[in-house]
Amino acid sequence: MPLYDHHNRGIDYLRISVTDRCNLACVYCKPRQNMHVLPHREILQYEEMHRLATVAAGLGISRVRVTGGEPLVRRGVIDFIASLGSIPGLQDISLTTNGVLLPAMIDDLHGAGLRRLNISLDSLEPRKFSEITGMQAWDSVWRGIERAEELGFTPLKINMVPVRGVNDDEIVAFSLLTRSRRIHVRFIEFMPIGANDRWCTEACVTADETRDIIEREIGPLTPFTTESGAGPSQNYTIPGARGVIGFISPITKHFCSTCRRLRLTADGKIRPCLLSDTEIDVKSPMRGGCDDEELRRLLKCALQIKPERHYIHATAQGCYERTMSKIGG
Ligand code: SAM
Repeated sequence: MPLYDHHNRGIDYLRISVTDRCNLACVYCKPRQNMHVLPHREILQYEEMHRLATVAAGLGISRVRVTGGEPLVRRGVIDFIASLGSIPGLQDISLTTNGVLLPAMIDDLHGAGLRRLNISLDSLEPRKFSEITGMQAWDSVWRGIERAEELGFTPLKINMVPVRGVNDDEIVAFSLLTRSRRIHVRFIEFMPIGANDRWCTEACVTADETRDIIEREIGPLTPFTTESGAGPSQNYTIPGARGVIGFISPITKHFCSTCRRLRLTADGKIRPCLLSDTEIDVKSPMRGGCDDEELRRLLKCALQIKPERHYIHATAQGCYERTMSKIGG
């Protein structure tokens, strides 16, 4: 049984950010000025995350996604993922990564029981990838994707944030990946989150616009529905294709009424809504010796304050205190 929040949404999904650090500096994610990273003591230990996940699973959370920052830069993350698999009630464990370290780690991740992977990739052109991310690592990410396909990760999702004038000319190329590969390519609207000084309305390529671009070039897409609780993505296929094209539109079509998530930030805050800075501290109580009953109370409290919806389209940029990498994307 999932947990129910104040607005009667079943909440069964927890995103755990294991670090606020990232090995990339994507132009649409990080502010241009240097970003402060937290000292190690401020970050939850794996034991603390495991404890919180266990209590959450006892309350009805059945799905966990490990994210960051870049989760693969934190030492011990493979063991942590393996340890999540032993928590009673957790049925689905997944990982979101930029893929840079995947070639060295993917076999061990598979060995740790991981089967679901989202890889963020914003360009199919190595040079543009470096311009967007600040690192020459496209080949590594691509090798990681190919190995994930070989190992049979299902579904294997590639997340792309189209930013006008940066990579929107690659929308069709990304879509065509799904013709011959069993990959989900998901286009995510660029959000004005964090101290993001690059965001402006014009930079955001909306989901409708992205779909128009694809249908103009390739032809009509066919609606595609599968897994129950498939999440916020509106899915389609190119007729006859092996893969899926998804559109995630937090800006133009908020999907708050179907949101089933809580987030645990790397510094130990439960964040009920990505797009609201209201958070509940669980690190201080845990370090102060609280019992599991108190953690249950705090988790239930997070459900009570989970907002009915966000108002991001009406919000000026930079209103949120944390960037995506600091919240856990
Ligand atoms: N490092 C991991 C990765 O790259 O997937 C996990 C964290 S990253 C913050 C998670 C996702 O957030 C990535 O797919 C990234 O593209 C997305 N993201 C970051 N900033 C964003 C923004 N302002 N709008 C939309 N998506 C954003």
